This record gives sequence, C-alpha cells and structure tokens, in this order.
Amino acid sequence: MIFTDTHTHLYLEEFVDDRYDAIQRAVQAGVEYMLLPNIDSKTAGPMLDLCRKYPSNIFPMMGLHPTDVKENFKEEFSIVERYLEKERFYAIGETGMDLYWDKTFIEEQKISLKAHINLAKKHNLPIVIHSRDSFDEIFEIIDDTIDDGLSGVFHCFGGTIQQAQKIINWGFKLGIGGVLTFKNSGLDKVIENISLNHIVLETDSPFLAPKPFRGKRNESAHLIYIAEKLAEIKNVSVGEVSEITTQNAIELFKFKN
Ligand SMILES: [Zn+2]
Repeated sequence: MIFTDTHTHLYLEEFVDDRYDAIQRAVQAGVEYMLLPNIDSKTAGPMLDLCRKYPSNIFPMMGLHPTDVKENFKEEFSIVERYLEKERFYAIGETGMDLYWDKTFIEEQKISLKAHINLAKKHNLPIVIHSRDSFDEIFEIIDDTIDDGLSGVFHCFGGTIQQAQKIINWGFKLGIGGVLTFKNSGLDKVIENISLNHIVLETDSPFLAPKPFRGKRNESAHLIYIAEKLAEIKNVSVGEVSEITTQNAIELFKFKN
C-alpha cells in the first residue's frame, strides 16, 4: 500500500533530533510520498534542502502562510515569487486566511490570497488553502477568481457538508487529517457523504496528531491512523483508501507520471 501525506512540515525544528528517522518511519509505514508546504522566507531553505535529499519521496510547495502575513507582507511575497522563478514546485501554498488567532491583517490576508491565486494561474500549479474562521471570506475570493485552470485543496478541512460541496463543485479536494479521528469532531458525519474521489490525506505534522497520539508531536508515519479511520467511515478497505487518495494526490500535484 502506498500513501501520500499531502501536507507535512518535516523541515521544522520540532524534527531537529530525528528528522531522517521520522522520514524513514513514514516510508516504512507506506507513506512513500510527502508534500511540504512552505511557511515563510525562513523555512524555504530548510524545506528545499530536505526535498533535494529525497527527490523521489519529498516534494516542495511555495507560498506564505496566512498567519505570517504581516507588515512586511510585500517583501515576503516577492521572495515567494522569486523562488518560483528559479525552482520547481508542485503547488502554491500554503496560503488562505486565518482569522482565529488574529484579525489585524485581514485586508493583507485577502490581498495575499488573491496574489497567491494569480501565482497559481501564472505557473499552472494547484493551490493549498489554509482556512480557519474564514470560510466566507475565502469563498468570496475564490468565487470571484475561479477559472477552469484553477485547482487545489482545502487543507485540514473541518467544515460543513455545504462547505464541502462548494469546494468539490470548484473541482478542489478536501485535505483530511487527524481531526477525523477526534471524538466529537463531527467530521465523520460530513465525510460519510463525500466520495473518496474528492479526498486527499494529510498529517499537518508536527501539528494535529491523530488518535492515539492526540496532543503529541505528529509525524507523517501517523497518516496510517487517519487512513484507517477513513476506511472505517467509508466502509471500504484501507487498501482502497490508499489507492484512491494517492491517485487523487498524484493527479492534483503531478509529482509522478
Ligand atoms: Zn500547514
């Protein structure tokens, strides 16, 4: 069985002591492909270093995380643009909006998301959207800018069935992670009604560890627990989950022909 972790921050300092072991554990567990979303100008270097060490397993994406959209947004965004001119990336991200932690830069976050969407169109890449307490704002922007060429994923999806339907109608995927395994998340009820064809798996490690590791550091090997939960909810085999979600990821991010 081959799994794909479509969202993992393996380059962060949480992995300083066991980064290569964590990658080894993932590959051994069947998580053969891992996609790394960028955060800001400081993380891009370490992220690319890691991708160069594992060119057939780990693939970089480029963007500025919405919680890092601050006063210096223009400068940070121009660094994202420059990286895209000189390196190969598999998606634009992560971008999106986060109004949970801080609403100070709400206008800048909107400008940043629109600018990332333009980059996705320019480079013909999918877009990775982080959405927290900001569904309506993001929906409005995507509704205004969507065209046939634009595809992407709502990473760490935790919304309602109506929101899921809207995302699917755009042709976007739902990124499903550890929250699916949390008791009372309600996400199982939503996912029950969504075809596997619209789902990709992710850990968002080192964050959001699934049951039975909830609250601990997360890593890509734990993707299996999310896949097992999804198989249970959809009443299919784990093998089927692995096959369909990896195929969805390959179609979206084109890291393999
Ligand atoms: Zn992330």
